[in-house]
Amino acid sequence: MLPRSSMNKKLIDGRIDLRIIHDKSVNTWRKHTNYWEDCNRCNLAGKRHRVSFYRGVVPCDVLFIGEAPGQAEDICGRPFVGYAGHLLQDILKQVSEDVKFTFAITNLVSCIPLRWSSETKQYEVEEPTETEIASCSVKLAECVYLADPKLVVLMGYHAKEWYPRGVGKLFPKIPVIDITHPTHLLDQLSPTKELLIDNIVLKLIKTICTHIK
Ligand code: SF4
Repeated sequence: MLPRSSMNKKLIDGRIDLRIIHDKSVNTWRKHTNYWEDCNRCNLAGKRHRVSFYRGVVPCDVLFIGEAPGQAEDICGRPFVGYAGHLLQDILKQVSEDVKFTFAITNLVSCIPLRWSSETKQYEVEEPTETEIASCSVKLAECVYLADPKLVVLMGYHAKEWYPRGVGKLFPKIPVIDITHPTHLLDQLSPTKELLIDNIVLKLIKTICTHIK
């Protein structure tokens, strides 16, 4: 197996080394979380309370990938437990009324992107940088490998932008779709919000029916 530091460089450059997904030593969630829970590969390590890995059922039919943990996720060490997470749960509940599937939820980066704002004079949650996303790519690749989904659903701009260019290349047989990030939905007013949610529910039902037997 390549050292994880080498894997990261290869993922960034698009020169994928498939030995990463055949590494027999990364074969349990316990080994995965034991390795990454003390990770300090990028500067997000300094401000986090806990590394936020995944929530849901693994292995799963559908793996949802968002961007980064927020404050609620940072405290409890699980993705999508805040307002956006509740909205996503509502959406998934609607979808599951029509199709049966198992799912798990994770993020591109597993530590909260807190940065000092000279404007507000306090730390603010911002978007992860390219370097931070690249640093966390190996962790995400291990997560996808262990979750072994039949479908990947990307949520938000960064996931849509980065997954296909990096980690997604390691799993070319897993179909990928993207949906609006639940945080963006929270900002919308009715009836736009309801319309967007209806579209997401329909898209998920249609895609899950196609790919999950
Ligand atoms: S975001 Fe990922 S790479 Fe960066 S410190 Fe956290 S676990 Fe490590």
